[in-house]
Amino acid sequence: MPTVGVLALQGDFEAHARILRSLGAQPREVRVPAELERLDALIIPGGESSVMMLGIAREGLAEPLRALVAAGTPVLGTCAGMIVLDGDHLGLLDVRAQRNAFGRQLRSFEADLTLAGIDGGPVHAVFIRAPWLRELSDAVSVLARVDGHPVAVRQGNVLAVAFHPELAGERRLHELLLRTF
Ligand code: GLN
Repeated sequence: MPTVGVLALQGDFEAHARILRSLGAQPREVRVPAELERLDALIIPGGESSVMMLGIAREGLAEPLRALVAAGTPVLGTCAGMIVLDGDHLGLLDVRAQRNAFGRQLRSFEADLTLAGIDGGPVHAVFIRAPWLRELSDAVSVLARVDGHPVAVRQGNVLAVAFHPELAGERRLHELLLRTF
């Protein structure tokens, strides 16, 4: 049974843990560096990226998180988790996330997105004060866009989406994480 960490400093980590259990994986809440050891994959959930970054600094998690990605461990960041991974924060994705990018009219919305690499029809995506991405390097593949803005990307072993798959019961991104991608 693979053990998948879910960063549990803040945000909706429990919804991810439920999906992981339903896929036969063992979730492990991660709050301190020792809990990152021997993980098969890691999820950085949605929530509030500024609060999450404070927790990462307080617990000394930045370097261990970078080491985990450098070791090739698959990582999925969703919404605030995508922001935490970007070039202005942990520097694990060669992108800049523009926070709360969709503006007042579109603060929260749902969309069906076709994601490159995800079979079985469109992904039901819940966007809540979501970012979009700018300044992508050539190392980053765009998997989906909304209004021309990248909202799902992959760079090596890091997968990041601007929406919440876990709130729509969407499990295929977690399945992708569990396959060696
Ligand atoms: N707006 C939040 C932030 O800037 C992200 C929202 C979310 O994760 N749903 O961190």
